[in-house]
Amino acid sequence: MTIRSLLIANRGEIAVRINRAAKALGIRCVQVYSDADADSLAVRLADESVNIGPPPAAKSYLDIGTIVEAARRAGVDAVHPGYGFLAENADFADSVEAAGLIFVGPTGGTIRLLGDKVAAREVARRAGVPTVPGSAGRISDITEARDVIAGSGFPVMIKAAAGGGGRGIRVARSEAEFEQLFPQASAEAQAAFGDGGLYVEKVIGKARHVEVQLIGDGQRFVHCFERECSLQRRRQKVWEEAGAVMLPDAVRGRLCESAVAIAREVSYRGAGTVEYLYDEETGAFYFIEVNTRIQVEHPITEMITGVDLVAEMLRIASGEPLSIRQDDLKVSGHSIECRINAEDPARNFMPFPGVVGALATPEGEHVRFDTMLYEGYQIPPFYDSLLGKLIVWGKNRDAALERLRSALADLKIGGLPTTVPLHAALAANPDVQAGRFDTLFLENWLQTEEAIRQLKKEEVA
Ligand code: ADP
Ligand code: ADP
Ligand code: MG
Repeated sequence: MTIRSLLIANRGEIAVRINRAAKALGIRCVQVYSDADADSLAVRLADESVNIGPPPAAKSYLDIGTIVEAARRAGVDAVHPGYGFLAENADFADSVEAAGLIFVGPTGGTIRLLGDKVAAREVARRAGVPTVPGSAGRISDITEARDVIAGSGFPVMIKAAAGGGGRGIRVARSEAEFEQLFPQASAEAQAAFGDGGLYVEKVIGKARHVEVQLIGDGQRFVHCFERECSLQRRRQKVWEEAGAVMLPDAVRGRLCESAVAIAREVSYRGAGTVEYLYDEETGAFYFIEVNTRIQVEHPITEMITGVDLVAEMLRIASGEPLSIRQDDLKVSGHSIECRINAEDPARNFMPFPGVVGALATPEGEHVRFDTMLYEGYQIPPFYDSLLGKLIVWGKNRDAALERLRSALADLKIGGLPTTVPLHAALAANPDVQAGRFDTLFLENWLQTEEAIRQLKKEEVA
């Protein structure tokens, strides 16, 4: 059934992004909002909006019953979950379909299977994709991790089976530390994800985070090449690039093919991402997880392939076959995204909600700023601190970096500290410019005198 109206079950910049893609397809948009988001840009842009309750997410954006009821009452055909919140909640997908509506994403069964990282590792193995050496399944104490520890030695990583957003992960350097961290990780996972299940993985040292964008209609599956997302803080991405320029072409080919093999294994429908760790020294890559949703960093893939991933999600959800063939997809140039957060990099990234003052956003060819911001907007303190994403394209990586530096200089968000100075410092950093970094680079760099000085200086400027 062709989607004519859509409930956007999210907030922030991704709600704005979905709104624009849907409108361009002639779809009527109904925006949900909590009491804290009545003045949001997403609400202003939507054709209609529905209040779904008080500010805490548990009482609004995470309330399945209220959101499905809002969709039914608004008479929409479909629901787009965005990322975060209920995007990877299988019960939500099932509830939407049980109400006779289209869920823009994979089936509840696929989300349930791949959302469990232990089960997903098994799927990857069945598809012939190498996984990080680790426990065969969930473990309940250190005795069940003995084999992994004996094989890989310390440190090992304790991970939540239901984890996401960098939470529920602990690194244990010794048996004593393992015994101490294990119950902590389980309690955190239980509180954050409602599932305290844990597994262990070998720690891949000096790794790059590389991921492959997938899109499928349940029968045909294509990849839209890879992204490099190693610049992370607290295991959350900060800066992303497409493609991963250090990958040898032969490895790139196998990596992208392996993601398609996973999609085929589960007859994947919708947009998704397969994440890997890449060991530059050995050239080996290891599956870590699948995200069964649109990702924050999807625009950089759009910039190098020309595919509108959100529009494609909506077409597939309407029952149309995939409009793209693998052979038609070609990479053009290079793209970089910087996540602009309402956090103060000079004060240990303290979140800083406030009122947006004068706003100047970069414009021009090959520059895109996906944002929820407008002048005078009061940023609510209840949700994550992402304000927007600055995305640039260049004919190669150097050209993209050049454009990024000038776009960052043009981006002025008055009234509150943001991560713009951090990105300016990174864009000027010789290691970043040379592409020499791994997943620990940013954390290490932030501890240096140079970083502390630069972030303070930017603050004064
Ligand atoms: P991406 O994989 O797209 O880079 P992030 O890890 O930055 O996504 O997460 C995007 C948002 O979704 C963040 O607000 C994060 O906290 C949230 N999120 C990611 N995974 C989960 C999950 N499994 N459960 C709840 N929230 C999640
Ligand atoms: P999440 O679901 O929270 O996104 P991931 O499994 O994707 O968790 O891991 C998040 C980040 O943690 C990775 O991008 C990487 O930087 C780091 N990481 C995860 N697993 C390992 C590992 N086995 N060895 C080293 N680093 C890892
Ligand atoms: Mg991840």
